[in-house]
Formats: sequence, structure tokens, C-alpha cells
Amino acid sequence: MKFRDLVETYKKIESTTKRLEMTAHLVELLKKTPPEIIDKVVYLLQGKIYPDFVNIELGVAEKLAIKAISISSGFSEKEIEKEIRETGDIGEATEKLMKKKKQRSFFREELTVKSAYDGFVRIAKAQGKDSQDVKIKTLCELLQNGDPEEDKYIIRTLLGRLRLGIADMTILDALAIAFATKEDRPAIERAYNVYSDLGGIAKKLCEGSLEGLKEIKIQVGVPIKAMLAERAKSIEEMLEHIRDPVVEYKYDGIRLQVHIGKEISLFSRRLENLTEQFPDVVNALKKVFDKEVIVEGECVALNRETGEMLPFQAISHRRGRKYEVEETAKEFPVALFLFDCLYAEGEDMTQKPLSERRKKLEELLKPDQEIRASHMIRSKDKDEIESFFLKAIEDGCEGIVAKASESEYKAGARGWSWIKYKRDYKSEMIDTVDLVVVGGFAGQGRRAGTYGALLLACYNDEEDTFETVCKVGTGFDDETLAKMPEIFERVDKDNNKNKKPARVESAIEPDYWFDPKIVMEVLGAEITLSPVHTCARDIIRKGSGLAIRFPRFTGRWRKDKSAEEATTTKEIIELYKKQLKKVEE
Ligand code: ATP
Repeated sequence: MKFRDLVETYKKIESTTKRLEMTAHLVELLKKTPPEIIDKVVYLLQGKIYPDFVNIELGVAEKLAIKAISISSGFSEKEIEKEIRETGDIGEATEKLMKKKKQRSFFREELTVKSAYDGFVRIAKAQGKDSQDVKIKTLCELLQNGDPEEDKYIIRTLLGRLRLGIADMTILDALAIAFATKEDRPAIERAYNVYSDLGGIAKKLCEGSLEGLKEIKIQVGVPIKAMLAERAKSIEEMLEHIRDPVVEYKYDGIRLQVHIGKEISLFSRRLENLTEQFPDVVNALKKVFDKEVIVEGECVALNRETGEMLPFQAISHRRGRKYEVEETAKEFPVALFLFDCLYAEGEDMTQKPLSERRKKLEELLKPDQEIRASHMIRSKDKDEIESFFLKAIEDGCEGIVAKASESEYKAGARGWSWIKYKRDYKSEMIDTVDLVVVGGFAGQGRRAGTYGALLLACYNDEEDTFETVCKVGTGFDDETLAKMPEIFERVDKDNNKNKKPARVESAIEPDYWFDPKIVMEVLGAEITLSPVHTCARDIIRKGSGLAIRFPRFTGRWRKDKSAEEATTTKEIIELYKKQLKKVEE
């Protein structure tokens, strides 16, 4: 098949915005495409050479392309840059210049889809010290063999600027019309949901029609579309949809679909390949699974010192990173909380109920610090779920997800078998608070010999007590950390008894109690309800206190304040009320 045929379709598609017309052009092309190259044609229609989940990028830098255009056309790089500025598109510029080309080539081998595709692959895969030469040489060959119009599309494809705007769903429509019937469209989409390789689907359909489609099965290494959750406004609403749910923490990180076969691959919710960005997760997975599986979970950044979960912003430092991957992994360690098992030891688990999938997950997973099963309870009791929700928030999660334990894994679908319930209030702390240090947690690793986190309290001026409001582990420099054992007076120092000071109200037991004396300035992200902290207990809600979420030390010790001059419980309540705003949907 000639590359020209593809270019003609590109042109037709560019000239319409109507989906039906687009589909008709695609059908026409697909029908005349030989089965051996139909997968390649499908990728090229989307400006790619592989499906997104394959970790090979086509990307060629504009500079390199300009060099190759210059060699092929005889125009200087400056002249080419000028033309690009004038036309506003490197593809158009290439076409124009190649038409006026200063040197004629004697040999021109007409481009076929296969020869163009092979050239793209050679360019994408070129590595090592002469990779630039290989890329330029191959691109020059392509440009020489193509006519000016074909060259326009070659350049656009290689620079990732083809942008025909053909959605996956339009290609599925076209495949159904070309190789099956309209009625088969849902079956084709279902196959695509568990096997997200459009080229592969096209090939099966083209070679064997619907029979071919039946052979499509979950395969380790080919990502499955993620099942998605509906949103509830309240726990009651959740329970209306699922009477007896499994309730899990809704972790605030990045969803990862883990494929473990001969190799380990990690895919994002959008099915991009993230394997190289998380080498630490890959190593940890090697230790905990020794069977072929596909599992799913949320990857969350942890505080290096305290092991506490950090908000999404922290893990976003790890995402999309090509350089300093190892260093960033050390700075932002992560844990993966697994919540589903989609395939195990040769068996497709997606049609099995969640309860069975979870059982399988727990059976195959060897306990580990970095890879854990998601925290969950089974309950239909509103109050119990409410406390679980508050605990989730306090532990750094976004909320909870309720799941129907008998439900299948519906790839690519959003439904009421999974329901998310997030904090429905947004509050940002507008001011810093001054809190009293009442306890310390022993440090580990770099913090051995000092404290990993401190337990902080506000002052209840009516009761003359100190009520805990958060644990802080961030914002300390090395010098402060080293000094900390001297700064705080440990209660057990004199009598060897680690007894809670009388005026401290706490449900948390730190490793060491301190006399409430030292006041530090803290900035948090927000104030939330808490099932654990004693600040304002039972005042806003029965059984709950208030906590400061994501607190960090500002670096200021308030030596000018006594413990009784610290922020009071009343002030924390006021702050909470002020911050209580409904989130705009
Ligand atoms: P959506 O995925 O619903 O389109 P979104 O991308 O904003 O919306 P969220 O609102 O965060 O996602 O809700 C769903 C996401 O929650 C999942 O895709 C997953 O990444 C995350 N998540 C965290 N913990 C869990 C859990 N225990 N079970 C399922 N999903 C979880």
C-alpha cells in the first residue's frame, strides 16, 4: 500500500469536522488496507507508531528535523526557520521548500506505508552515540523518497504534530462498519476495554472478523481500561446504592495498574506507561509477587521521616520525570495501596465478584512496607463508616470509596458499584497557629537519635488543658533536628516513667511525653474533623475532634509565648468555622 493512499485520507479527514464523514473516509481506507499492515495504518492515523502504553516515543526535536530538511532541500537552516515563521507550521514550510528544492535527487523510491513506518521506527528506536546521525540519515531518506506533500505529513508525524483529531471511538466505529456490523460495535468496544491496543483489535477484526475478536483476551503487558467511580454527596446516599458495601480509603495519589509477567509494567489511569518513573515500586513488586498477575492500586507519596501519607502534590514530583529518577525517588518515597486483582495465574478475574478478587489479591501478596492492600472495612453502619471516613482524612486520604462486594470489574465504565465520597468542604488555613509540643515519636533512618514527628496541642483556656491537634514531621532543618533532644524536656528523664503530663488530653500515645512548655509556629493545609485528636472533642460533632491537616513547622519557635499563650481551642474552632465552605462542583 502506498504512503500516498494514507496521505489522501489524511487530507480528506483534515477537510472535515463531521464525525460521520471522518468515519466514512476511515472505512474506505481500512477496507483497502492489507491485513499485514492494518495495525500500522491505525497507529499512523493517530500520529503514532505504537499504542500509547508502549514506552517508545516517536518524538524528533525540531532542530534535528530542520537539519534534515536543510540537507534534503538545499536550503539553509536559517531559510527554513524563516519559512516556518512565515507559514506558522513546519509541515507547510517543508512542503513549500521541498517543491522549490535546490537539488534534484536521482533516486526516488516511492514510499509505501511499510517503508515510511519502518523509517519512523528506526528513528524512534535509534539510541546511543550515533543516534543523531541515524535519525538524520533516515529522515533524509524519507524526505527524498516522499513527494513534497508526503514530506509535510512525515515531518508532522515525526514532530508529534499530525493532530487529525481522530478519537479512539471513531476508529472503533469505522472498524465495526468495515469488518462487522453496527450491532457488533458494543462487542468491539468491550474488547477494546480489556485490550487497549487499537491496532491489535483492527488486525484481529480484519483477519478473522468477529471470530477474531473473541480471541481477544486480557494479556499481561496490555493495559485494561480503568473502572471508575460515581460520586455520592453523603454516606446515606452511598448506602442507598450499596446496602452492604466494602469501604476503602480513597488514597490521594496516582492510580497504577501493575502488570507482572516476564517483565513488570506500570500503567496510569490513562494507560500511559509509567514503569521507568517508578523503579522503586518495580523493585518492591518483585519481592511481593512471584506469580503472573494484573493488580491495581493507588501510589501515594510518604513523608520520608514519619512515613505519613503526603497529598497528591508530593507524588506529582515523580510523574513524567525522565531525569534524576532515582534521586527523586529517594526524596519522595512512595507506597502502593493495592485494591484490585484483574488477572491471576492465567485467569481473567474481571468477571468475578470483588470479594473473590480481593481474596485473591491478599492470597498472592506477601506483606511488605511499600506494597500493601488498601485499608478497608465491611460495614453497613452509617456511624461506623463516618468514623472510618474521618480516620481516612486524618491519615491523609481524600475520602472513601464504597464498593459492592458482588460487583464485577467493569473495565472502562463508570457506575454505582464503586462510589466515592470525598471531603465536601474546602478549607485553607489562612493563618499560622502556635502550638505546644507535648510528645515526640522516635526518629528512624536519618532521624535516628532525634524525633521523627512531634505531637502538638492547643490550649483549652476553660479547662486549663492541652488538647492534641496534629502530629508534625515536616519543616525541620538538620540543625533543628539535631538540637531537638535538648530542646524538649522528656517526662521520663527523671523518674524513668513515660507518663502523660496531667494537663495533657490525648488519645494518642507518643514514644515520649514532654512537659507542655515549648511553643512552635505551624502552618497547615486545613482543619478537619478527626476521630483521634482531642481538640474541641464533641463540640462540632459527637465523637469527633478537630485536627490540622498536613502541618509544617514554619521555622519559628515562639519563645515569646508560654504554653498558656498558645492558640486556644476556641480559636481553632473559629478557624474551622471560617474555613467551612462548600466546594463548587
Ligand atoms: P474519576 O476517576 O472518577 O473520573 P478523578 O480522576 O478525579 O475522577 P477521583 O475523583 O480521584 O478521580 O476518584 C477515583 C480515583 O480514586 C480512582 O481512579 C483512583 O485513582 C483513586 N482511588 C484511591 N483509592 C482508591 C480505592 N481504594 N479504590 C478505587 N479507587 C481509588
